[in-house]
Amino acid sequence: MNELTPDLALSSCGFIEPKEVEALAKADIHAVEDLLNWFPRRYEDRRCFDAFPVHVAGDAVCLRGMVVDSARKRFGGRRQFYEIVVEGSGDSLLSNSRITCRWFNMPYLHRMVAVGHEVVIYGKPKEQGSRMLIDHPEFEVVQNEGGSSIHLERIVPIYRNISGIPARRLRELLHEALSGLDVEWGEPGPVFSDCSRGEMLRDVHFPGEVEKAQSARRKFALEEFFLLQLRVLWRRQRFRSQPGRIQGRKTKLLRAFHESLPFDLTDAQKRSVNEIAADLRSERPMNRLLQGDVGSGKTFVAMCAMMLVVESGSQAALMAPTQILAEQHYLTFRKWLSSLEVRVALVTGSRKESDHFGFEGAPQIVIGTHALLYDNVDFKDLGLVVIDEQHKFGVSQRSRLIQQGTIPDVLVMTATPIPRTLTLTMYGDLDVSVLDELPAGRGKIITGMREKPKVSDVTKFLREQLSSGRQGYIIYPLVEESDALRASSAKGEIDKWAKRLRDYEVGLLHGKMKPEEKEEVMARFRDNDIQVLVATTVVEVGVDVPNANVMVIYNAERFGLAQLHQLRGRIGRGSYQSYCILVTDGKNEEGKRKLQVLENTTDGFKIAEEDLNLRGPGEVLGTAQSGMSDLRFVDFLADGSLVREARQLAEEVLERDPELEESPRLKKEVEAITEEC
Ligand code: ADP
Ligand code: MG
Repeated sequence: MNELTPDLALSSCGFIEPKEVEALAKADIHAVEDLLNWFPRRYEDRRCFDAFPVHVAGDAVCLRGMVVDSARKRFGGRRQFYEIVVEGSGDSLLSNSRITCRWFNMPYLHRMVAVGHEVVIYGKPKEQGSRMLIDHPEFEVVQNEGGSSIHLERIVPIYRNISGIPARRLRELLHEALSGLDVEWGEPGPVFSDCSRGEMLRDVHFPGEVEKAQSARRKFALEEFFLLQLRVLWRRQRFRSQPGRIQGRKTKLLRAFHESLPFDLTDAQKRSVNEIAADLRSERPMNRLLQGDVGSGKTFVAMCAMMLVVESGSQAALMAPTQILAEQHYLTFRKWLSSLEVRVALVTGSRKESDHFGFEGAPQIVIGTHALLYDNVDFKDLGLVVIDEQHKFGVSQRSRLIQQGTIPDVLVMTATPIPRTLTLTMYGDLDVSVLDELPAGRGKIITGMREKPKVSDVTKFLREQLSSGRQGYIIYPLVEESDALRASSAKGEIDKWAKRLRDYEVGLLHGKMKPEEKEEVMARFRDNDIQVLVATTVVEVGVDVPNANVMVIYNAERFGLAQLHQLRGRIGRGSYQSYCILVTDGKNEEGKRKLQVLENTTDGFKIAEEDLNLRGPGEVLGTAQSGMSDLRFVDFLADGSLVREARQLAEEVLERDPELEESPRLKKEVEAITEEC
């Protein structure tokens, strides 16, 4: 066998079949290092198995036993499934315990596991009548292989499946690769440079105790997060060292704006405006995040910032993620700013008013979608860029706008409350202002989950609200019916609602409509020409119609928590009591638990924390922003202390050596990534 080096191709290792090399390549595993970096998803302690459960305790169990019966069956004529009965082996106290395992629509399974096989199974049991049942357990057929087996009588790593390589075989390949490893293997890590990589890897894959694996993983995770934080801080340092503008010293316009408002800013708004003003006046460029729940008044904070910039003689731009939102911002800005004679222009993809804004002179505020990035809007002197709902934008789009001309100050606004532990990772290069208070005088939102409510009841409730002059939303997960998904759709239901609510105007809004059509429907809804919108999640972001106080969400279990929270944010914007009805078929316990979170709170930060608990950081980050997906230790992000430790280590390194002159390897790493963004 060749001596293993990190970049040795798997085909040259000598113990991997060509067909396996191919299968591994499909999973992007090409070299020895890639294989070793395929970390276990979890571990099974196969020295002692769980007892066969008699009742459900909620947790997953790991059982060992013999397959004593099997059958292929059909369910309601259509869905076919395969079922086996596993019986505990002799040395178990409850040796006559049995459990049924069931798999749907996996016709090939009967060839993999059958009567007479000894198996290890892993999954969450449930009770069905008098029997215990696990649906879709993970399983492995085992053989009694004597003392030195890597599959039994030890802590066994369980990997994510790689198509074409059975679980046992993958475990053998890793074991083989590890046994050829020198303790001096690979380059020293950036944090634990004294620890042997070979040792750490062995602990990760074939630990003597699970704690050893955890501690080795934590080390790898810390190193990954350290590099991430180093990049973030490096980027921040670069950004801050650029010459910025000093603006916003004069406050006449800002004061006039304040005086024109029919309300006082909330304390949180005032605090944020002050923080922003200080940034604007400093010669360091601003790079600030304004985080605030839906309806907390971010737009007004942005307007205040813009007043300061406009009075300094520069332009400000506001970039919105959708056409609807850009339109709406434009109307809002016109409404509040026209009396101050501030020139506001709208630039979007479908509507180009850049030649004709209806006023003399260059616009002072330009509002648009990402078309602002591509249509070469001629900014004369762009002093401030405000990016609304930034999670909808990629990092590269963000930096693209920032690259135009001399560097403007940047304010990023987000209504997606990010759990505190994730903020450092996602927005670690930004300063943060938080709007943690809603304007006074908002009506409460009452949220209720309803399992299969009667149509007549929902109709009656809607009619009551409509008859007192309010408006409402009815939300569906799909635009049109689909065979693949059993969920209802906006197009499929609109006519029914039009009939049920026939004295009122019912409009349709979904993402597949043309921008002009969407705009028209939104305008009519705003003007109360339309009382009820049957819609998909296009209304999710930023739509602001304070008169709307009811929202019925069908198949609510299909939406994510964060998304439901966003949707619900469309109501409760006026002084009226508002109602959000989450309709579900109630089949899915997890789905119900999710909806209960919404029944219990409207606090976006609490919901975000719950979302993190339910879905894990990988999922939360994945939908919140791309670019984090290549983190290998995403699950450790929920471990706040680890993230803070990484941050602190990175800060220390940069404090000691701001240019990373003594650490060329780190510098290379950091610069390579920074270029990409
Ligand atoms: P966000 O962008 O954070 O969702 P907006 O800035 O759109 O919130 O404000 C939401 C609503 O609250 C708007 O209708 C706005 O007119 C109103 N509003 C904003 N700030 C205040 C305030 N300080 N007092 C009363 N109403 C406010
Ligand atoms: Mg907003």
